[in-house]
Amino acid sequence: MKKTSTALLALALTWMTPALAGIQWSYEGKASPEHWGELSERWQTCNKGMYQSPVNIQHPINGNLPPLQLSFHPHAKSIVNNGHTVQIEVEDDDDFLLDDQRWTLRQFHFHAPSENHINGQSFPLEIHFVHENANGELAVVAVMVVAGDDNPALDMILSSLPPKQHQVQALQQKLQLTHLYPEDRHYYRFSGSLTTPPCSEGVIWLVMKQQVEASPAQLTQFTKALIHANNRPLQPLNGRQIVN
Ligand SMILES: [Zn+2]
Repeated sequence: MKKTSTALLALALTWMTPALAGIQWSYEGKASPEHWGELSERWQTCNKGMYQSPVNIQHPINGNLPPLQLSFHPHAKSIVNNGHTVQIEVEDDDDFLLDDQRWTLRQFHFHAPSENHINGQSFPLEIHFVHENANGELAVVAVMVVAGDDNPALDMILSSLPPKQHQVQALQQKLQLTHLYPEDRHYYRFSGSLTTPPCSEGVIWLVMKQQVEASPAQLTQFTKALIHANNRPLQPLNGRQIVN
């Protein structure tokens, strides 16, 4: 659909080249999340939208959703700290089928602490895998990270991180994303939005129920790389149902 293709483009512009996008947004100060909707005409949905993300996931309805059938292919492209998040662009064919459509991974990035909550609980890190279908609609698979064992995939990402913000670094090694997904692929499903301007709605959210682990040192490295917390505050559900 045209609307979400534009959303993806805007997402790429604001996340990859803030200078070109013009208006700046932030997590602190005058351009903080409560002001996003006033910063640009195109971002009004951030304040006026009824189905915004992130949310507190609670009281899910049992829809007997089968586990997500993901297919992984090791791949690499580039990594950047764009000032809002650490983002990995992929050249890929990691994908899954949902609603009889194929959803292909475009990029993934990190939020610390987590944006979505599960039963009121926040997590130290949340990974967003942004997938797109043939119509340009978006589905984000979210994985929560908890303190535990060292995560080999995160090690590779942290060691590839360029020293300067906005510096795009090619990934030398191929990434195996299986380490960033829990073994149990059951998830919560609901409708939401991008969690950054333009906050476009119509995004399918699939939040994995099981978490993955990262060492406390890795979690600290992420917090340092991101400089400040990059989680948008929780948004009201406004009657939306969460299915699991
Ligand atoms: Zn995100």
